[in-house]
Amino acid sequence: MSRFLSSRFSAMIPYNTSGDKSPSDDLIRLNTNENPFEPSPKAIEYAHTASLGLNFYGDPECELLTRKLAEFLNVQSNEIIFGNGSDEILNFIFTGFCENGAIFPDITYSFYAILAEFHGISFKTIPLDENFRIEPSDYFAPNARTIIFANPNAPTGLFLESSEIERIISHNPESLIIIDEAYADFSGKTCVELIHKYENLAVIRTFSKSRSLAGARLGFCVANENLIQDLRTIKNSIAPYNINSMTQAAGIGAIEDEDYTRENVRTILQTREFVREELVKLGFEVLDSNTNFLFTKHARISGQKIYEELLRRKILIRHFSKPARISDFNRITIGTREQMQLMLENLREIIGGAC
Ligand code: PMP
Repeated sequence: MSRFLSSRFSAMIPYNTSGDKSPSDDLIRLNTNENPFEPSPKAIEYAHTASLGLNFYGDPECELLTRKLAEFLNVQSNEIIFGNGSDEILNFIFTGFCENGAIFPDITYSFYAILAEFHGISFKTIPLDENFRIEPSDYFAPNARTIIFANPNAPTGLFLESSEIERIISHNPESLIIIDEAYADFSGKTCVELIHKYENLAVIRTFSKSRSLAGARLGFCVANENLIQDLRTIKNSIAPYNINSMTQAAGIGAIEDEDYTRENVRTILQTREFVREELVKLGFEVLDSNTNFLFTKHARISGQKIYEELLRRKILIRHFSKPARISDFNRITIGTREQMQLMLENLREIIGGAC
């Protein structure tokens, strides 16, 4: 640490990106829930064309992209704002909308706690139930704290019905409710339409997963126009040109090529079910998944050991050492059929060797 870092950051533990190796290494990366398929040809073509105009700043309002997405989602343009990945939208939320504190599940996307710490926001975590599910009534304590969770949740992959989310919203009229739908295209369900019913709901989504644009960094928030206006104020105060012009163009291409996304999602879901069956045969417990990953633990071999043995064989999955009740689980991203077959062969070897 240098002498110059502000003291309030001296103990900060940042998001763990240590597993994110360069794409050029020879690892099979099943650790960050990326899409194994390339971006749509249209997204690539539009980004290439946009690259010829990189001498100019990109449109700070993302007007064309916003219009396209609004049409696609059946909302108004003033109900959408884009972020440099949905992580940036989350940062805007923690920057500007958590004065009364935040509440989120004990097991969910780890970035929420990091952002809360970063912004000095007090937060409370609510344990998932014994089946790793969110119990809506645990959130019925109206206190104006911002409530946030991923749906489907990560790393569990479990899904909460919109009617259950509505119960949480209606019991917390003073709270802003943030639903992080990073994986919603894999569940096929969204609560975006509820933004017209509840002015205290914001839904965050991303182009990183189903649309194969993790490297482009494009996420967005859909909410009531006043919330979006406030988010725009925050955005324009810290990152006015947050979405570069190639990314804006790629986003438009991806929306225009929805069939491509649907086809890839279908393939990933089929592969996921194949992998689930094979894992069960190998003695794994596998949680239901509504996403492009599986959360799983073996009956006899520790999560840490499976993670290390696969890594030795150049296959990277995600292990969580904390909290204790998930320390035997691993989260495995669904890659191509060939990648998954290779992973399963290696698992057979690891499990056979450990018997
Ligand atoms: N929310 C959840 C639940 C995630 O798993 C991720 C991906 N790590 C994100 C948000 C952030 O995605 P991005 O910033 O790539 O849009």
